Amino acid sequence: MKGRKLLMIPGPIEFEPEVLRAMGMATTSHIAPNFIAVFGNSLELMREVWQSPTGQPFIVAGTGTLAMDMAAANLIEQGDHVLVISSGYFGKRFKDILDRYGANTTILEAPIGEIVSIEAIENELKTGKYKALTITHVDTSTGILMHPKPIAQLAKKYGVLTILDGVCSVAGEEIKQDEWGIDVVLTGSQKAIGVPPGLALLMASQKAIDVFKNRQTPVGSYYSDWGNWLPIMKAYEERKPSYFGTPAVNLIVALETSLKKICKEGMDNRVKRHQNLAKAFRAAIASLNLEIIPKSNQIAANTLTAAYYPKGIDGAALRAKIAEKNVIVAGGLLAEIKTSYFRIGHMGSVSPNDLVAVLSALECALLELGQPIESGISLQSFQNELMQTD
Ligand code: PMP
Repeated sequence: MKGRKLLMIPGPIEFEPEVLRAMGMATTSHIAPNFIAVFGNSLELMREVWQSPTGQPFIVAGTGTLAMDMAAANLIEQGDHVLVISSGYFGKRFKDILDRYGANTTILEAPIGEIVSIEAIENELKTGKYKALTITHVDTSTGILMHPKPIAQLAKKYGVLTILDGVCSVAGEEIKQDEWGIDVVLTGSQKAIGVPPGLALLMASQKAIDVFKNRQTPVGSYYSDWGNWLPIMKAYEERKPSYFGTPAVNLIVALETSLKKICKEGMDNRVKRHQNLAKAFRAAIASLNLEIIPKSNQIAANTLTAAYYPKGIDGAALRAKIAEKNVIVAGGLLAEIKTSYFRIGHMGSVSPNDLVAVLSALECALLELGQPIESGISLQSFQNELMQTD
């Protein structure tokens, strides 16, 4: 670890050595029997992580944005109405993608730090015009958590498909795709899934697959077309060779390794670990008089924390001082407040030790910049809070 900086941004994250070692194995043919088994296992393990025994998993080379693109390209046709429930930068991205495929989008946004109310969502759905709605589970630009369950229930009531951008939540926040009736849950590999960037991962409900199969018009993107990928996923799951676009062999070997580790920890334990660490971290941040973007802890993500810089502090200087102490945190992303806040990722295999290192570096940097805080206060708050959790 000597000389290595701890990567505490909201993706890519710190990866398990075992996962990185798996990635470094000699590349095999994509139809070698051992790789077919790895691919098939990964598809099956995804169902466990997504809690979707009846879902159709997709593993495709690309990023989280490709997974968003796939949902839009395959489910939406020209003129379809889609409701985008946004809590930051990535809600707007979903609207852009949907618009590109000819959707008629309506975006619901709340003031920064707040979420759209369930009443506002129901008022829109009552119009009866929507085919689908999208939710950003955790918007990485604001650190806001939207609870998908009540929205998915409403969507079901009005016969609307639910698409969840889980890029910053899958394998970190609670998701029960089948039980909650969500039609698409998508992510990228580099966040709580714990695999270096390069895989788009998506789980579609049977209803979503039926909607795709009953399209009137062809899918507008060749690469994203489920028609090309469905037979491939089915073949690998049946442990048969198949080809459409060359799979990212090494990344998929790493994915199987990481998914196995996730399932070994168990989803309930994993979600609880994220919740406990995030709660303690927020207490520590508050002890430094730093204000987080979400207006209440109920809507604060457990995979990252976004906090405003103290008044009068230059954000770039603060982050540079933190980096000098071998910890990397991220700057702001939401255009309106970009230079006034920063973000710390705490997902995947994150441990209390990682967060102690972040808090120590942050506290020292704040002290060096003349902030009137008590040395050790955040470490004490973090530890006290953590010791109270079960
Ligand atoms: N949605 C959310 C919530 C994200 O955090 C990100 C990435 N930060 C994306 C979508 C896009 O994913 P990618 O960068 O892997 O394309």
